[in-house]
Amino acid sequence: MTATPATGHPASPPYPTLFSPVTVGPVRLENRVIMGSMHLGLEDRRRDAPKLAAFYAERARGGVGLIITGGFAPNRTGRLTPMAGTMRSAADVVAHRTVTHAVHAAGGRIALQLLHAGRYSYHPWSAAPERSTSPITPFTARRMSRRAVGRTVADFVRAAGLARRAGYDGVEVMGSEGYLINQFLSPRTNRRTDAWGGTPSKRRRFATEIVRRIRAAEGPDFLIVFRMSMADLVPDGQSLTETLELARELEEAGADLLNTGIGWHEARVPTIVTSVPRAAFTAFTRRVREAVTIPVAASNRINMPHTAEQVLASGQADLVTMARPFLADPDWVAKAAAGTPGRINTCIACNQACLDHTFQNRPASCLVNPRAGRETDPAFPPLPDRSLLPVAPRSRRQDTAPRRIAVVGAGPAGLAAATQAAARGLDVDLFEAGGSIGGQFRLARQIPGKEEFAETLRYFRQRIDETGVCLHLGRRATVPGLLDGGYDRILLATGVVPRTIELPGIDRPNVHAYPDVVSGRVRCGPRVAIIGAGGIGHDVAGLLTEPDPAAPQSPRSWHSQWGVDPDFTDRGGLTAADPGAPARRVHLIQRKTTRLGAGLGKTTGWVHRSALRARGVEGITGAGYVRIDDDGLHLDVDGARRVLEVDDIVVCAGQDSQRDLYDPLVAAGADVVLVGGADVAAELDAKRAIEQATRLAARL
Ligand code: NAP
Ligand code: SF4
Repeated sequence: MTATPATGHPASPPYPTLFSPVTVGPVRLENRVIMGSMHLGLEDRRRDAPKLAAFYAERARGGVGLIITGGFAPNRTGRLTPMAGTMRSAADVVAHRTVTHAVHAAGGRIALQLLHAGRYSYHPWSAAPERSTSPITPFTARRMSRRAVGRTVADFVRAAGLARRAGYDGVEVMGSEGYLINQFLSPRTNRRTDAWGGTPSKRRRFATEIVRRIRAAEGPDFLIVFRMSMADLVPDGQSLTETLELARELEEAGADLLNTGIGWHEARVPTIVTSVPRAAFTAFTRRVREAVTIPVAASNRINMPHTAEQVLASGQADLVTMARPFLADPDWVAKAAAGTPGRINTCIACNQACLDHTFQNRPASCLVNPRAGRETDPAFPPLPDRSLLPVAPRSRRQDTAPRRIAVVGAGPAGLAAATQAAARGLDVDLFEAGGSIGGQFRLARQIPGKEEFAETLRYFRQRIDETGVCLHLGRRATVPGLLDGGYDRILLATGVVPRTIELPGIDRPNVHAYPDVVSGRVRCGPRVAIIGAGGIGHDVAGLLTEPDPAAPQSPRSWHSQWGVDPDFTDRGGLTAADPGAPARRVHLIQRKTTRLGAGLGKTTGWVHRSALRARGVEGITGAGYVRIDDDGLHLDVDGARRVLEVDDIVVCAGQDSQRDLYDPLVAAGADVVLVGGADVAAELDAKRAIEQATRLAARL
């Protein structure tokens, strides 16, 4: 570990490859970190340009080498949604100047992503290489005529010129993730027989023509990035030979940098959720890198500096691209450069506040950093200590009569409230009855594939030290103790308790509350019934069926589980999946008749459902619980009695708020506020808890 002297800057660079400058076409970047394209929901209305500018300027100040914006369509047909942002007029140029000026003033560089959605458009005017409907959109795209193809190439070229007028350092042409250019490249979606299809070379023509013509129009001093698909991960996707040939032709056409993506949005292989191992696809990037002489960037599930350094130092890529990690922490680069990775607020790849919002047409933010995307919102002010890198522990006693706050409960809500309040100079006591911080996150990190949740706890532990929160572990707060403490305000973040249910036999020794099973206090037998099929029911089913819970998930085992072929033998990079033998036979039950897991996140729910299906978990919906006895769990399903002969029953029936302290404190006249699960247990979720706590702390 590199020593950090008193200045806070390490004696030698902690990540030498990550922080070595690199020349990419006409630009020299001071480090090898790119903030990748991420749709924030601020791109679509010109009046949101100042918000977008504030968002990117904050990341530029944090030191990222190059920023790539969310996707902007080069024409109306290519918009992802009917009102999506475009780059096609002088009015667009004016709005975008707000963004580019802000980023340049902050010392950053920024490129505009040009994205034509093709058959992924959510509007009836969508167009694609051939008439088709994607499995993830309701509209049928019309076939583009030869003239329309030519016009679209010209639109890309015009959009790149407008981007330059708007002050962008360059453009990224989006040719990955199954959007229009990718649709032209793959025989899955391009069976044309004219000049734009019929042979691999003709399928590549649309991509290479766009790059060639932008280069011709803009000359050598304009950055052109092409985001290409390393492997489509869909049947009948591109072959390895075609992919590598594309890389070579793009270089020849004038691309400065190949940014690599993986998998189409319709692929049934997860590529970015938290259960995907870190840097799971960089071996694919390496193949592309070996085929060209221009720099190549790796992406997908790279979220911490040591992972990024490993990818670069091992020669798999020249740069790394991360998008969500910059929502979670705008200062990611500065903290890594200072040799203080422990201070990074790590993206846990939950998708809850970013991509799930995008799919609901809501602005993106971040579960662990609710300020993301709201930099101009007074409810989420910048922390006063943000510019001090690194922050020295604050001496609480130096403050002149700070307001005194007690926070009870060190789960996500209590941790966010305590550290945010302390960062604003308040004197904070944080009481936790247990022996460690974390609350529900401590449980979540025990679920295989959710190990990233431990990073958030590490971050909060660090923040407690930095901000001078006085943490009282193993101290159950009491009403007299809190009243005697003389606090100006008491925040009750006491969280939840698992809901107990009424059922004959529920008190038998083989019936367990989920925390006992998740924490490992209870070991279940080979046959298990789970009562309750919400998020936690799915997690527990995953935990109990995990083929080898002791073995750490590696890219190799994960590829095999999901049918990714690292040797890329067949088209699309797919092979037969081998989910492994499940450790137990599990039944997952709910009373509702709706689809199991219907309430899970849009971008993550299908992954859970698919994994459990592959492990033979039986989902039972519309169940009535009758009793538990020696024979097992008795149910009424579809008017018939059914007995599940199981060894253990795990209750995952939601939670109730834990707020015993509230009424007595209010009665005694204390200023008390409920926050997180203690406030609302229904749909208990960390996103709401952290956001509520952050808003509250800003008002203290
Ligand atoms: P939940 O999602 O509300 O699910 C509770 C389950 O218990 C439901 O299936 C419900 O279905 C059942 N239930 C409720 N009351 C019952 C009763 N009296 N008797 C029998 N069954 C009952 O709660 P959770 O699973 O505890 O999750 C809590 C929160 O954590 C969720 O809001 C979720 O956002 C989050 N979370 C998400 C994930 C994920 O997305 N992977 C993972 C973990 C947690 P029926 O009423 O139909 O029986
Ligand atoms: Fe990462 Fe989750 Fe934040 Fe999205 S919401 S940026 S996935 S931590």
